[in-house]
Amino acid sequence: MLTNIYHITYAPSTKAASLFFWGCNLNCKGCYCQRRVFSSMLGDCVGYNLQQPKMAIPPTQFLTYDQVMEILSRVELEEVTFEGQEASTFPFYGHLSEEISKRFASRNLLLTNGYELPDLRSTHKIGFGLKAVSDEIHRDYTGVSNARIIENLRKLYRSGKDLVIESVFIPGYIDLEETERIAEFISGIDKNLLYIILPYFQAGNNLWKRPTPDQMEQATNIAKRHLNRVLAFTGEEQLKYEVVSLFPDPVINEYLEDG
Ligand code: SF4
Repeated sequence: MLTNIYHITYAPSTKAASLFFWGCNLNCKGCYCQRRVFSSMLGDCVGYNLQQPKMAIPPTQFLTYDQVMEILSRVELEEVTFEGQEASTFPFYGHLSEEISKRFASRNLLLTNGYELPDLRSTHKIGFGLKAVSDEIHRDYTGVSNARIIENLRKLYRSGKDLVIESVFIPGYIDLEETERIAEFISGIDKNLLYIILPYFQAGNNLWKRPTPDQMEQATNIAKRHLNRVLAFTGEEQLKYEVVSLFPDPVINEYLEDG
């Protein structure tokens, strides 16, 4: 059976693999996959340069279910992350996560936009990407209302799943005001939920700029008015461990073209 998995990475020191799925049910204006489809943790080995605007070519090679299991069996595994674009768009997500968990005794993490909730019985942790709580901004940014996403978030919380909520800070768009609204909204569910604020990286046809470290600090301080656990990245953090591509091997520059 063919999957929509086009990329697999592995970090030997943490025994963690990531499966990258292609395809999404939202259409975010700032989607990073417009600019890069392979893991940003692979650094410069794919010729990627933040200073040079490039548009990524969508992947053309996809793995079968058996190939995914075979590639994972080559390494020692403790954790598997399901990410990329949207892993929940794979119709057999529940089956695949169960097989992986059984065969490798892995802890499974799903990064999702929350629009569709797949079978999560073998998913141990969820990173929930909430784009905006103001429906007007959400519709403008993603093309859809956030009503079912918010309902799914509440449902997940009630289910007792280990949950982390993330949003992307975009100066002048999903800015301090909206970040505070997101934090306030999360605190209405549980003040102790971990909220991670990620910096926007320029992608797609828009004029938004990447936030400065100062802006990220301001966003953190505003979110901390409402929540006990807030973490923000500036995008300048150095990766402390090696990440390699298990598929394709090697990831090559021909997947990138000038935008
Ligand atoms: S939900 Fe994520 S993968 Fe999907 S379009 Fe938005 S940013 Fe891209």
